[in-house]
Amino acid sequence: MTDPTSPAASAGFPWPGGHVAAAALSFDVDAESPLLHDDPTTAVRLGIMSHQMFGPKVGVPRILDMLARLGVRSTFFVPGYTAERYPDLVRRIVAEGHEIGHHGHLHEPLQGLDADQEAALLDRGLEALDRVAGVRPRGFRAPMGEISFHTPALLAERGFDYDSSLMDSDAPYLLDTSAGTLVELPFHWSTDDWEQYNWIPGIADSRPIETPEKATGVWRAEVAGQLRYGGLVNLVNHPFVSGRAARMVALEELVEELIAESRLWFAPLDEIAAHVRSLDLAPVRHEPYELP
Ligand SMILES: [Zn+2]
Repeated sequence: MTDPTSPAASAGFPWPGGHVAAAALSFDVDAESPLLHDDPTTAVRLGIMSHQMFGPKVGVPRILDMLARLGVRSTFFVPGYTAERYPDLVRRIVAEGHEIGHHGHLHEPLQGLDADQEAALLDRGLEALDRVAGVRPRGFRAPMGEISFHTPALLAERGFDYDSSLMDSDAPYLLDTSAGTLVELPFHWSTDDWEQYNWIPGIADSRPIETPEKATGVWRAEVAGQLRYGGLVNLVNHPFVSGRAARMVALEELVEELIAESRLWFAPLDEIAAHVRSLDLAPVRHEPYELP
């Protein structure tokens, strides 16, 4: 175990092929699940539900077409409930060669749950993805980023290879657990489309809807920053959010730039995790806090 401030997770990360930084594009296929979890009364509100349905009905097909056009393989984090409601869509994602990651069952944030409750949710999501698409995900992203101190060991026990939920670094690192190691591929809200675009009356309406130029401008600045500091730009997009027409146009332009940037390794999260695993880094253990 190393001190959590170990320089292993700071500037100058050893990316393959002489690249100075890395970028990944992933999609959290939340669809209706976060709203149904947080407020089950939304289940009878067709208007609100239709806002979320846009993701699987229009956003994901548009995204898959864009990825095919650009020849890019990507990662889709799919809640079990989404897989059960939209099985053909999830099978299409798999058939087109993309990675499926775990994103809870009904998009449950994990705060306040004990280890047994967390384990049951993880297993329910795994069962749904297996039943619908025959996949065993290698990666996990906690709904709303709400991973707990129990979660890493539960993931390692289930054979996951990586987590992408933490924010204590902007370069990958190896996460130590009582059941083995996980690769951590950190993210941050600054590279998430939710904060830029998402506006749902009474649910997520505290910010204005930003323009695609402003949103992708924030993300371009993060790319420029990591070209200096050598970390990972972990772009998190949601099909119900970024599948909207003007946002897709801007996203495709950005992805074309990422592909063309020779200093940047643009890769799906499972490939980045495999590279990190190959480096034999000293693992970092997150110990629970003891309050004074
Ligand atoms: Zn989500």
